Amino acid sequence: MEYNILKHFHGLEHQPLDPFNADEIGTSLFMAGNMGPKISEKMDGYAAAAGMGRRSFLKSSLGFSAAMLAANEVTGMKFFEVGAAEAADFDAKQESFQVARASSDFVVDVHTHVCTRPGHYVLGENTSERGMWFVQLLDDLGKAFGLPNGTRDMNVENYGKLILEKSDTTVGIFNPFGFREHYGDRDMIPMDYQVQVRNNWPKSTMMLAGGLTPNQGLGVTLDRLRNYAEQYKVSGLKLYTFDATEKKGWWFDDEKLAYPMWEECRKLGIKNIGCHKGIPFGQFYARYAHAEDFDAAADDFLDLNFIAYHSAWPYHAELAALKGFKPQRKNLYCEVGSTFAATVTSRPLECAHVLGTLLRDLGPDYVLWGTDSLLWGNPQWQIDAFRKFQIPDQLVEGYGYPKITPEIRRKVFGENAARIWNIDKQKAMQAKAEIMATATA
Ligand SMILES: [Zn+2]
Repeated sequence: MEYNILKHFHGLEHQPLDPFNADEIGTSLFMAGNMGPKISEKMDGYAAAAGMGRRSFLKSSLGFSAAMLAANEVTGMKFFEVGAAEAADFDAKQESFQVARASSDFVVDVHTHVCTRPGHYVLGENTSERGMWFVQLLDDLGKAFGLPNGTRDMNVENYGKLILEKSDTTVGIFNPFGFREHYGDRDMIPMDYQVQVRNNWPKSTMMLAGGLTPNQGLGVTLDRLRNYAEQYKVSGLKLYTFDATEKKGWWFDDEKLAYPMWEECRKLGIKNIGCHKGIPFGQFYARYAHAEDFDAAADDFLDLNFIAYHSAWPYHAELAALKGFKPQRKNLYCEVGSTFAATVTSRPLECAHVLGTLLRDLGPDYVLWGTDSLLWGNPQWQIDAFRKFQIPDQLVEGYGYPKITPEIRRKVFGENAARIWNIDKQKAMQAKAEIMATATA
């Protein structure tokens, strides 16, 4: 991710959270966001109805249900399909959770990160001032979500503990960071560090390659691409069109700089090409966060899939138009990491418009689940929120958005990713069961 959540969620940085308790994290976000004071007021009543003190209620799974109910009340719209009993009674909550989980048990998180490397990031030694802006952003986020050492805790070990053991994530696809000009001429997350995630959990994770920056020289970029395919057997690319070179960025439809990369991907059998779009964070320029350069690339490379990470929010309408007006298009995808997380608890109306636009125009077969964790800590609160999230009737009627059916939820959560990454659901579920068995043993 790459978005200063702390400016939008006031006070979150002052509460020490338990990184393993996803309910507590989710509830805190509702209470620190735009609707925070109004939601907070209502929580006393919900705690009393559950027969609990406020403090323990806010750390409980009932508290998270109550926060969603309160959001419905505050907005006067039904964004969350939560019944009153789920906020008052542990048995009712558990039952509703099991029903929701059973109907969407296969979760492929296509947007996950580790955020450190050996030697970490030291200003003036291996990291420039601009490089530190980004590290600091991630560091603050991590601390706000209960990781006391910020980015240092977004390591391989916690990837396993928080994403694979403590959430319903079946398969995690992890994404690199490059920007080597800012990090002592070494990628911010070097491949040889992050590959440990896949080495540790080979049946439950996949690795994307990144840091490919044609402004560093096309020859060296193509060499690196071939090396990623041959040495690391990567499952696709996750790139950034803003970069840390003097040119600041590049475009996917640049026939001189980018097309040779896509031609090489073809030869190497790399089908899925993602790019950070939207969320123009830190030192990077917004013009490179727009998605319009996907238009020509998608038409000229029909056999490759182009995936707009973050769904290009807040330029998601522009992305959606690339399919809305071109229904013949079958290789344009979006991913909801950080976009869903940043809007669902604080601005659910915006969340509904974003998801509604993507589902209506790109279509339910082209929206992919992602959480951008470990930046947002344990991703389970996001999974639970999406299981309960709904587009209110007013918006369905007024905008032509689809209702989020169980089938759509399953597609977004895992089936779409499984299709384009050839993931065997049965095998992945088995591997997940093995992880859970050893985690609890
Ligand atoms: Zn990310």
